Amino acid sequence: MFDTVLIANRGEIALRIQRACRGLGLKTVAVHSEADRDAVYVGQADQALCIGPASPSQSYLDPSALLFAAEVSGAQAVHPGYGFLSENAGFAQQVEDAGLVFIGPSAACIRTMGDKVAAKRAMRRAGVPCVPGPDEGLPSAPAEVLALAREVGFPVIVKAAGGGGGRGMRVVHEESALLEAIALTREEARRAFGNAEVYIEKFLLHPRHVEIQVLADSHGHAIWLGSRDCSLQRRHQKVVEEAPAPGIDEALVAEVGERCAAACRQLGYSGVGTFEFLYEKGAFYFIEMNTRLQVEHTVTEMTTGIDIVQQQLRAARGERLVLTQADIACQGHAIECRINAEDPDSFAPSPGRITGWHMPGGFGVRVDSHAGAGYRVPPYYDSMIAKLIVHGSSRADALDRMRLALAEMQIEGIATNVPLHRAIMRDEGFAAGGVDIHHLERWLAQRSAA
Ligand code: ADP
Repeated sequence: MFDTVLIANRGEIALRIQRACRGLGLKTVAVHSEADRDAVYVGQADQALCIGPASPSQSYLDPSALLFAAEVSGAQAVHPGYGFLSENAGFAQQVEDAGLVFIGPSAACIRTMGDKVAAKRAMRRAGVPCVPGPDEGLPSAPAEVLALAREVGFPVIVKAAGGGGGRGMRVVHEESALLEAIALTREEARRAFGNAEVYIEKFLLHPRHVEIQVLADSHGHAIWLGSRDCSLQRRHQKVVEEAPAPGIDEALVAEVGERCAAACRQLGYSGVGTFEFLYEKGAFYFIEMNTRLQVEHTVTEMTTGIDIVQQQLRAARGERLVLTQADIACQGHAIECRINAEDPDSFAPSPGRITGWHMPGGFGVRVDSHAGAGYRVPPYYDSMIAKLIVHGSSRADALDRMRLALAEMQIEGIATNVPLHRAIMRDEGFAAGGVDIHHLERWLAQRSAA
C-alpha cells in the first residue's frame, strides 16, 4: 500500500519513527527546517528535504511545504509524530485529499475528538465514564447557565470546546464568579481557537492523570494496552510517566480499557490513540482523547513488549490486527523521565551545544534521543532532548534502576533537568506511588521555600 513514509516531525520522535519504518522495510523521507539540517536522523533517512527556515510556522507547521515534500520525494504516506500537525484535522484531510495515507485515524475522527464537547458526547454514548457535567455547550441565558452549574455543584471548571495544550480553562469556586469566568473563557477561546463554545464540568480537587493506550485496525478490531500514570506534571506538562498506573484495581482498569476499545470500534477509529482520564477516589473520568502517538508510548512498549509505532504503521497499511486482547499481558513496571534542555531550578530553556554526552545503559535501560556530543540544541522548539526509560520486575525495582541510570547520565555544555529527576526519584511521596496531579508543583514550592 505504501513503501515510503514522510516523517513530518523532528527530534527524538523523528528518529523513533524512522527506526520503526526500517524495522518494517519501509523507506523514510526526513523533512527538516534549516535549524535541523545536521540532525543525525536527517543523515540516516533514505531521502532528506529542507522544508523551510527554523520557525515552526514556516516549516513543521506548514502543510503546503510538507505536501510538496511528499510529492517531490514520492512518499505515499505521512507520519505526523506528536505535536505540530499531528492532531490537525485540516492537515489530515489535505493528506487524504492528496491521495496519500495519513498515519493516524481519519480526519473525521480527529475532528470529533478535537472538539471536547463532541468527544465527551461520543464517549458517554460509548459507555466511557466522563466527568459529571452536561455534554453540550453552555447556553447564553445566565439563569440557565446558573441552573446547570448548580446541578453540577461547585467548584466547576469552564472549558473551551476547542481548547488544548492546557489553555482555555478556568476554575470557578463560587456562583458569583461564574458568569464573568464564562465570558472571559469564551472571548479567549474565540481568539485562540476560533470557536467560542464553552462547557462546564465538575472540578475534581485531587485527581491523578491516568490514561489508556489503544490500538485499532481499519477492520473493526481494537484492543487496549494497559494503563499509564502521568500525574507528575508542571504547568500541565508531563515530566515523569509510568506504566502501569500504580495501586489501581486491575478489574476496574480492565473494565475501563474494554470501554475504550469498544468506543474505538463504535467510532471507526483506526491506529493508535490514548484515552486520558482523571482518576479520583476509585473512579475514572474521561477528559480527552489524543488521536496520535504520544511521548510516553515507550512505557507501554516496555511493559507489553509491543512496538507501538510499528503497530501504528501496520494499521495505516490496512493490515488486520494480529494481536487479540488475550495476547496483552503487562510485565513488570516501566518509568520514563523526560530529559529537557532547561535549568533544573528556574526551568528556563538552555539551548546550545552539547559538549559531553554519557548515556546510561545496561539491563532494562532505554534511551530514546536524537542528541549526542557536538549536537546543538536549537532554541526554536520544545526543549526535550531525550527520554530515559527503565523497566523493572516491580515498581520498586524500576525506581532503583531509574536512580542508577540518572546517576550515570551526564550531559555537558548545556543545563538539563537531570538533577531535578534525581531529586524526584528520591521523593518519598513519588516513591510511594499514586500521587495526584498537583504533587510535583507542591513539592517544587516546598523545595524552593526550604
Ligand atoms: P488540554 O487539552 O488543554 O490538555 P484537558 O482537558 O486535557 O485539556 O485538561 C488539562 C488538564 O487540566 C488536566 O490534565 C487536569 O490537570 C486539568 N483538568 C481538566 N479538567 C479537569 C477537571 N474536571 N477537574 C480537575 N482538573 C481538570
